[in-house]
Amino acid sequence: MFKTLTAMPADPILGLLTQYRQDNHSQKIDLGVGVYKDPAGHTPILECVKTAEKMRTETETTKVYIGPTGSESFNQLMSELAFGQSHTALLADRIRTVSTPGGTGALRVAAEFIKSCNPNAVIWVSDPTWANHTGLFEAAGLTVKTYPYYDYDTKTLKFDQMVDALKQINKDDVVLLHACCHNPSGMDLTQSQWDEVISITAQQGFTPLIDMAYQGFGDGVDEDAYGVRQMAAAVEEMILCSSCSKNFGLYRERIGACTIVADNSQAANVAFSVLLYVVRCIYSMPPAHGAALVETILGNPELKQAWLNELTVMRDRINGNRQMLVSKLIENGVEQDFSFIAKQKGMFSFLGINPEQVETLKQQHSIYMVGSSRMSIAGISEANVDYLAKSIATIL
Ligand code: PLP
Repeated sequence: MFKTLTAMPADPILGLLTQYRQDNHSQKIDLGVGVYKDPAGHTPILECVKTAEKMRTETETTKVYIGPTGSESFNQLMSELAFGQSHTALLADRIRTVSTPGGTGALRVAAEFIKSCNPNAVIWVSDPTWANHTGLFEAAGLTVKTYPYYDYDTKTLKFDQMVDALKQINKDDVVLLHACCHNPSGMDLTQSQWDEVISITAQQGFTPLIDMAYQGFGDGVDEDAYGVRQMAAAVEEMILCSSCSKNFGLYRERIGACTIVADNSQAANVAFSVLLYVVRCIYSMPPAHGAALVETILGNPELKQAWLNELTVMRDRINGNRQMLVSKLIENGVEQDFSFIAKQKGMFSFLGINPEQVETLKQQHSIYMVGSSRMSIAGISEANVDYLAKSIATIL
């Protein structure tokens, strides 16, 4: 049976990482993989995670099955983190959450859940969006279509076109929105743009699916959840997929959450039973370790504060890198305007160069980024920014 298969193309980002590792250039720079790095280029374990890990090892008493919902305490704390403790939807008991294997697991569960609601649903994603969204939703059997989002020429949002497209989407479909730190463009909706999108959502009646993979990496934990909170207050139903990979640095623990907001408590129970059935049929139960760490941190005021402090360090570093690159480009005589990089948010921005220039940066300067010129901003540091800016100036 396997002989009928044709090989799939290698994942472009992982392929880039292999090339980077084999490169012996002393000043090589990796701007490919989307993980946070400290100034030394290392992705550390957060101190609060280390402390939580110690506490758990001492108090853990069993490894027995956890059940399809995962940890109830994690689920509750994650909903409060996303929606805020006193959100009307929480108080009205309209929210149900399951722990999932990462944000990717949350998205897959959401996709299967959507299929149970409407097997013919179309899911609309931003153009562009995180590369895995399309494959993931199509693999679950949904039809994926795009709405206009990022303008590569002006480096801004195509907001008017986005609004026009959303106004054509009907109530049986789903629209995926990035809560913050849009991947790959770094271009987020402003609060007033969110308000407009939310009012169109309520008017059209389609179901919003918000992907929040970077809560706390943009402007702050509460600020980044603006769209999530306002949306949940304004519409009857929505889905939220969260990830703890970046903001807790728990990448390989695979922990995230899939949350549904229903019209009322009874409808939430029915939807939840379907969500649990979906989980049972994919992986039965989520991993428990990452959830145990997150609930230990969020449930302990001191540890939570320590986490918020470490999160602030990561956010400030990324925002600082953005400013630093823009200044260094100017210092190196680049006349083209790159100030948009400092205005965008989160882990990524498009540098805005063509694939040939991306290739030249790789071949001649050992600077690695994906062909679209999406840069992982955390890969920039005080130590490499001069070389990076000079190299960009050369290829321009
Ligand atoms: N959604 C977006 C927009 C992402 O960028 C990512 C990860 O890069 C994910 C979801 C999935 O995150 P996880 O690693 O938790 O599966």
